[in-house]
Amino acid sequence: MRLTFLGTSASEGYPNAFCACANCERARTQGGPSLRKRSAALVNCDLLIDLGPDLMAAAQMHNISLAKISYCLQTHEHEDHLDASHLLSRSVYCGVQGAPHLHIAASQGALNRIADRLGKRVRAAGLFDAEVSEQLNITPYVVAPFERFDLGPYSITGVAAQHASELTALLYVIEGGGRTLFYATDTGELPEPTWAALREHRFRFNVVVMDHTFGLAGRSTGHMNSAQFVEQMARLRSENLLTDDARIYATHIAHHSNPPHPELAELAARAGYGVAYDGMSIHV
Ligand SMILES: [Zn+2]
Ligand SMILES: [Zn+2]
Ligand SMILES: [Zn+2]
Repeated sequence: MRLTFLGTSASEGYPNAFCACANCERARTQGGPSLRKRSAALVNCDLLIDLGPDLMAAAQMHNISLAKISYCLQTHEHEDHLDASHLLSRSVYCGVQGAPHLHIAASQGALNRIADRLGKRVRAAGLFDAEVSEQLNITPYVVAPFERFDLGPYSITGVAAQHASELTALLYVIEGGGRTLFYATDTGELPEPTWAALREHRFRFNVVVMDHTFGLAGRSTGHMNSAQFVEQMARLRSENLLTDDARIYATHIAHHSNPPHPELAELAARAGYGVAYDGMSIHV
């Protein structure tokens, strides 16, 4: 599998357009990997993780086509991960012909948010209405935490995040081509039922991508700082969930708690992990 990061910032973007803090100013000067858009990632050329609000800009900036997207995994419905208007952008309403049918797996709450955003007709009939599904060229699936299901050539396991009590946030284990990716943002330290599920499935991750929102700041509950990140990494290893050559990457990087990319990458390398950046593409 190939994993391409389309957006690696926390909810406000990095630099935050409205912010003049030292990190944002330095990121503007340095450019390149220090410029981070809001969350989304691409697996191969057909599986999208999150309909993030900066998807269109990311595809343009990094010269990536999303024309072959057939599957979408939605982590949760926070605005920095979900802009449902992208579904209209890829539909016949916006002049797109012949796009593949899109299978969207998301929590019920995220699907409700999508239906709300798509306007009156969809809201009234619901996303599961056959006509709506045909017109938008999508099929939605409700994912409950700890469910394992197939999405085309991928085997997916959704596990619970520790994120926001008012909604269901999901982390995804994605298996394809004999390789295994664990995509884990937004979350604090993994909840015990999630550890139990990961153990039960005897996963061996080749690549792990984890929440690093609070970086050098204090510990958090719904997100992680670097100390918590390192602890979770150690536990993944001690629970035998990593291959010997597993690579771990930080994402969801906030301007208020993390230095610009080169400095952050140096700190992370000393602690044994990498830092994802927008446009970075790796073999899993
Ligand atoms: Zn987020
Ligand atoms: Zn700032
Ligand atoms: Zn969130």
